[in-house]
Amino acid sequence: KIRTRIAPSPTGFLHLGTARTALYSWAYARHFGGEFVLRIEDTDVARSTQDSVDQILASMQWLGLEYDEGPIYQMQRLDRYKVVVDQMIAEGKAYYCYSTPEELDAVREAKKARGEKALYDGTWRPAPGKTLPPVPEGVKPVVRFCNPQDGDVTWNDLVKGPITISNREIDDLIIVRTDGIPTYNFAVVVDDWDMQISHVFRGDEHINNTPWQINIFNALGAALPQFGHCPVILGDDGQKLSKRRGAVSVTAYEDGGYLPEAMLNYLARLGWSHGDEELFTREQLVSWFDGTHLNKSPAQWDPAKLLWVNAQYIKQADNLRLAKLVAAQLVKLGVTLSAETIESHLPLVCALLKDRCDTTVALAAWAAKFYADVVVDAAEKAQHVTDAVKPAIAMLREKLSTTAWDKASIAAVIKEVLTANGLKMPQLAMPVRVLVVGTPQTPSLDAVLELCGQEKVIERLAKV
Ligand code: GLU
Repeated sequence: KIRTRIAPSPTGFLHLGTARTALYSWAYARHFGGEFVLRIEDTDVARSTQDSVDQILASMQWLGLEYDEGPIYQMQRLDRYKVVVDQMIAEGKAYYCYSTPEELDAVREAKKARGEKALYDGTWRPAPGKTLPPVPEGVKPVVRFCNPQDGDVTWNDLVKGPITISNREIDDLIIVRTDGIPTYNFAVVVDDWDMQISHVFRGDEHINNTPWQINIFNALGAALPQFGHCPVILGDDGQKLSKRRGAVSVTAYEDGGYLPEAMLNYLARLGWSHGDEELFTREQLVSWFDGTHLNKSPAQWDPAKLLWVNAQYIKQADNLRLAKLVAAQLVKLGVTLSAETIESHLPLVCALLKDRCDTTVALAAWAAKFYADVVVDAAEKAQHVTDAVKPAIAMLREKLSTTAWDKASIAAVIKEVLTANGLKMPQLAMPVRVLVVGTPQTPSLDAVLELCGQEKVIERLAKV
């Protein structure tokens, strides 16, 4: 049975890199009719927070990455880890190590001075015929794993292909800290084993951890999952995408007016491809994603491309849905609309504007012109609202104040005013747009005026 998982540490928001491996794990499970598990790796007690858990869960939900099991919290599984550790110690597969941090530092320095890799020196590692040092008073031990000392660890990575690391390169990993809490590399193995995970997709910063994990799986007699390590995401400076280089949390994009399906599409494509397809639905992704065509080399985060993808989804989005999203963004601009307006008026505004806005934030900035006061830039006004056109604007205002308020009637009035004043459409439309919505670039004038409402239009045209 195909079982995948995502195992974020709740020490911050859901990072884009983690969201992407979550997406691959989810799509892989869905493609093969398997199951997807969410595990919260909260053993770093000092840095884990409930707030972070909440953010991670919210981002998973926003992206629509439904999990079949979880969230499972590692801190609720301490008893289970203890059972496994005790068993390993009893079988000679793990041991207590009483070396103090000072002693370990000294060993490390001495090794470095000799030009050797600073690995643990094995003082407390049991061996046939070896006498261990006397157990010191008052030192709390860690537990170390007896890593094989010879041979290689080899696996066929789903993303990177065959990888081999020599056991001489790695030492006896600490699997339980002095406070009794297991370390990542140990808990992850017990969990992936207990949860019968068949495929692990994660970031390639974990490649160096995998040999340890494979050795522990083997020591436990557990079936190995397959591993796929996805390359990092790079910022436009070629460095690993990080906080300093722009938004790296899923939440930031939700707040920034992106649609989850656009985000999902863009994230999936960043590191995986299906021919030349740039736009695909979540169903297509699931039907195409079989773990092949994952890129070996790092992808570059491209904000312009993401905006383009988002714009495509905004164009297709349902207007009422957009209205609700835009209403939330409008609140941030200090514009609070009634439920009635959100349901009946704002969808019309969204329909009119969604072709020219690439985020719901941009849509809200535009929509605000219909609901809040418009500040008309003096230079813009001077350029467009010339003395020559003022009489026509006055006439338009006069006639609009008595006409029926629908697009056709408004269009007829505009036409009448153009003819009476011998003007061409842009000569009148530009200044009217500037006065009514503060910008000369808008969708068709009659539609904009209709949605702005009679009262507001009359009032704004008076500012001539
Ligand atoms: N908690 C680890 C992380 O956030 C999980 C790595 C893994 O998937 O094994 O990076």
